[in-house]
Amino acid sequence: MSHNPRIMLVTGGAGFIGCNYLRIALEADPSLRLVNLDALTYAGHPAGQRDVAERFGDRYTFIEGDIRNTDLVRAIFAEHDVDTVVHFAAESHVDRSIDGPLDFIDTNIRGTANLLETARAHWRDRDDVRFHHISTDEVFGSLGVDGLFSETTPYDPSSPYSASKAASDHLVRAWHRTYGLPATLSNCSNNYGPFQFPEKLIPLMIANAIGNKPLPVYGDGSNIRDWLYVTDHCRAIDLVVRQGRVGRTYNVGGGSERTNLEIVHAICDLADEFHPRSNGGSRRDLITFVTDRPGHDQRYAIDASRIESELGWTPDHRLEDGLRATVEWYLANRAWCDEVTAERYDGSRLGLSSQSS
Ligand code: NAD
Repeated sequence: MSHNPRIMLVTGGAGFIGCNYLRIALEADPSLRLVNLDALTYAGHPAGQRDVAERFGDRYTFIEGDIRNTDLVRAIFAEHDVDTVVHFAAESHVDRSIDGPLDFIDTNIRGTANLLETARAHWRDRDDVRFHHISTDEVFGSLGVDGLFSETTPYDPSSPYSASKAASDHLVRAWHRTYGLPATLSNCSNNYGPFQFPEKLIPLMIANAIGNKPLPVYGDGSNIRDWLYVTDHCRAIDLVVRQGRVGRTYNVGGGSERTNLEIVHAICDLADEFHPRSNGGSRRDLITFVTDRPGHDQRYAIDASRIESELGWTPDHRLEDGLRATVEWYLANRAWCDEVTAERYDGSRLGLSSQSS
């Protein structure tokens, strides 16, 4: 049975994937009203949604607040009569979860439980409602040289981040099975594209390459990820929200496996092409190999055949084209990078568990 969202609560819509999703959801459905609830942590910034407020007027409402705040979440459901939740809000950086795991437990697990409980209380037995939970392929742990993660792969998370996301996935399934909450889930591979906070591999390497700074690659750079352009992920989410089967999980992936070193080489070459170094040299010379991440999963790869065959989704972007567009975007939006990192992140190494939480 398809679902027609009228009033959607997006959590974490000031973050990377969420702020791309706002535009896609509001553009796709001219009658949709959308409320974005975001705590504006270091990873969330008003700069990613300024044009959304201008373009979509009173169809769009931003509320600065925390998904763990029960009174606030209840008030939002009551005031806006929310019929759809698309839940992105999370602490999302593996390295930060190594340095300070408890924030991840609190936001990703307790925050998700708070949203589920509020939705259950507000919706009661309605079936014209949906709760969509965004998760990651990292819940499945690490692959060897062969194989793909499917929706039935057992969970085996390695980091505090992926363990907290795994727990939140279990909660969503439990609320569906126990209380009949109409929920769907998606587990996605690594996203890249505009508006990603410059602490993760691709935007950090682009920012450092443009600034002619060292390019720190973890270990020997052989870890493999399956990369997906962010708007392809957002289209998949919108499709699952509207057409996905209640209670079902959909894996989403780009079919674009690359080693981290291959990604960094590609970024160096694009930066050299768009913005040659004054000494004429290659930015590949800036690569340094640094101590590996503790518990670093070797390989992730997704079998996306369920969402492809059941819902007709396929990614629009080849990795080479998406990476080119991403480097161009960061070059054209250096002011955004400076604004979101100011007093929040100085580019230093995270995730060596040298601090306790
Ligand atoms: P992000 O870190 O860029 O954004 C997270 C957003 O959540 C930020 O705007 C932050 O302010 C907000 N937030 C954090 N704690 C909050 C709280 N307690 N209350 C309200 N808002 C809060 O993350 P992202 O990369 O956009 O990821 C979004 C979701 O997608 C996450 O659930 C993540 O696990 C999942 N995911 C990400 C990727 C990826 O490659 N980035 C891949 C698969 C799944």
